Amino acid sequence: MTTTTSPHPFWLAGGPATGGETLTVTSPRDGSVVGEVSVPTAEQVEAAIEAAVRVAPAFAAGPAHVRAAALDHVGARIEERAEEIARLISAENGKPITWARGEVGRCRSVFRWASDEARRFNGGTAQRLDSDPGGTGRLALTRRVPYGPVLGIAPFNFPLNLCAHKVAPAIAVGTPILLKPAPATPLSALLLGELLAETDLPEGAWSVLPVPNEAMPELVRDERLPIISFTGSAAVGWSILDSVPRKRVTLELGGNGAAIVLADWSTEEDLEWAARRIATFSNYQGGQSCISVQRAIVHESVYDRLLPRLVAAVEELPTGDPMDPATQVGPLIDENAARRVESWVREAVDGGAKLLTGGTQDGATVAPAVLENVPADSRLGCEEVFGPVMSVTRVRDEQEAFAVANDSKYGLQAGVFTHDVQAAFRAHRALEVGGVVIGDVPSYRADQMPYGGVKESGVGREGVRFAMEDYTYERVMVLTGL
Ligand code: NAD
Repeated sequence: MTTTTSPHPFWLAGGPATGGETLTVTSPRDGSVVGEVSVPTAEQVEAAIEAAVRVAPAFAAGPAHVRAAALDHVGARIEERAEEIARLISAENGKPITWARGEVGRCRSVFRWASDEARRFNGGTAQRLDSDPGGTGRLALTRRVPYGPVLGIAPFNFPLNLCAHKVAPAIAVGTPILLKPAPATPLSALLLGELLAETDLPEGAWSVLPVPNEAMPELVRDERLPIISFTGSAAVGWSILDSVPRKRVTLELGGNGAAIVLADWSTEEDLEWAARRIATFSNYQGGQSCISVQRAIVHESVYDRLLPRLVAAVEELPTGDPMDPATQVGPLIDENAARRVESWVREAVDGGAKLLTGGTQDGATVAPAVLENVPADSRLGCEEVFGPVMSVTRVRDEQEAFAVANDSKYGLQAGVFTHDVQAAFRAHRALEVGGVVIGDVPSYRADQMPYGGVKESGVGREGVRFAMEDYTYERVMVLTGL
């Protein structure tokens, strides 16, 4: 923390505000200052909570078309300012501009879907209860009611869209939200606040608060915020759930995604496609995606033909300046992260792994790495690396492939390269994950589909409509004498 004269304001109950201390946001690329952000004081956080609680009943009761129009407006403005927003994401996060543009496009769609869902989201239709004698003359109908204000907590790796995943569904159902962006990347979230401030959403309906981590446990425990939607590391996520077991908590946490290549995926074109997809999605954004490929699990009949292609595809990935549209792999979020990743690679090699390419660190950058024979008990073998590193494992058959993929404490998504419909269904049944992608890497995510993990990868589901369901409950009304 430092103090400066003109920090970027945060958003308190829908209006700009400045607080006590200041947070400096630096570029992962070269350490230059990207911006200064004002940090709310404890009193200002309290004011945001009070405003959220105050507006909650009226916001929920307000007409859906008004909320839908606000969501439409934000979506349209994201589209109008897309290039500027992509550059900001890239500047504060270090992700290559091409990937940042993709994130902006997804975010625009999230607001559009949320607006569509806001228009049609409702309770169930009326239901006669007279199938049982006690229900004679009775009718039940339901309406969906928000539990109350949401605390949304976001990580650094998709600094705009992961905030949108929390904010857009909250507006769609008419429940206030306090959004807490990651300390490394608050500027994209604050820009989203700028667009929200252009709408007619009521005062208190939303705040964007770059609260320091030290103040988060108290905010998490605040009983006036019954819903917590958290995306981030498993360590922080599970500690949140432990501290508030009675709250509704959605945890979108880490993973060590597997891409499985089965025996039938064997033509030249098949292997070329698999190599390029696996290489790209092991390393995009420096491997800092919860569903990037950390483990390639390959049938022995295609292993020796795929491996050299994989290594070549990784070595061909353009690395360097995030602002160059050709760049695929940029820096990690900071030098400490890059040092950690390099040390995990070294530890695996010391334990017997064979390093086929990459793995060296320079500043915040790590050269994309491919390893074989990674020891299962090394950190690379069992933790989420969150860096541009892939291990490749040879398996004898499909069963072993699924067993190796499941031999993980995480369970977010898996990719299975096969043309065989039966094998696809077997994979879907066997793999202990929240989603199975057939014919591609695990890294595919569409924001309207249910998305989330099992095991240590989390609990609950995002995806616009699924988050809306999580934020609300069915309240039944029974009509008598009909
Ligand atoms: P992180 O857990 O360090 O931080 C996430 C957020 O939690 C930040 O806003 C941080 O300030 C806040 N935080 C820190 N301490 C807290 C506390 N005690 N109480 C409440 N909030 C606290 O994660 P990160 O490094 O920003 O993000 C990387 C992680 O996010 C990876 O593990 C990645 O897999 C995961 N992730 C998961 C998904 C998913 O949808 N499953 C998506 C993206 C990222």
